[in-house]
Amino acid sequence: MATTTDRIAQLILSNGSDAIYHRDMASTPCPCRTPEGFRDPVWHLQHPLAPDCDASGMLPSGTVDFIVKAFIQPIQSTRATRLSTEQVEQLFGEVQADDHLGIFPVYWSGRELNFFKWGLATEDWIGYNGRKFQVVNANLLPAPEGDPKGHWETGLRLLGDL
Ligand SMILES: [Zn+2]
Repeated sequence: MATTTDRIAQLILSNGSDAIYHRDMASTPCPCRTPEGFRDPVWHLQHPLAPDCDASGMLPSGTVDFIVKAFIQPIQSTRATRLSTEQVEQLFGEVQADDHLGIFPVYWSGRELNFFKWGLATEDWIGYNGRKFQVVNANLLPAPEGDPKGHWETGLRLLGDL
């Protein structure tokens, strides 16, 4: 039976829009990294699609740039209003005119998307519809089955044209 995570991935695949995920991955810790600063091989066995890290739990440096399917909507559109006012405030603070809600898969074509520690100096960005957005906030939401990595809910703020 397909899990909810699979169903979300399927929904995004059939109905999502193309977005560019662009991150400068210099010295990004792998999700597996132990508090002591080592690679956790068990985590990687449990997440076979995740990119591999080095012995100290760090991902290879360099720019990651690929196209991913996502649901991206202006925050003031009807489709995004399923969020409560509190949720919107938590994501965006004060909402600005071009703020968008972005729903992203956690894994896409064998890569893992990670919106935590997003660089706010414009080295990291999301490209959508010819424009660049920064991620002002991100929540990693669990799937109903308990998988902690269900999907990403992100607050996107316009940076400018691509
Ligand atoms: Zn790792």
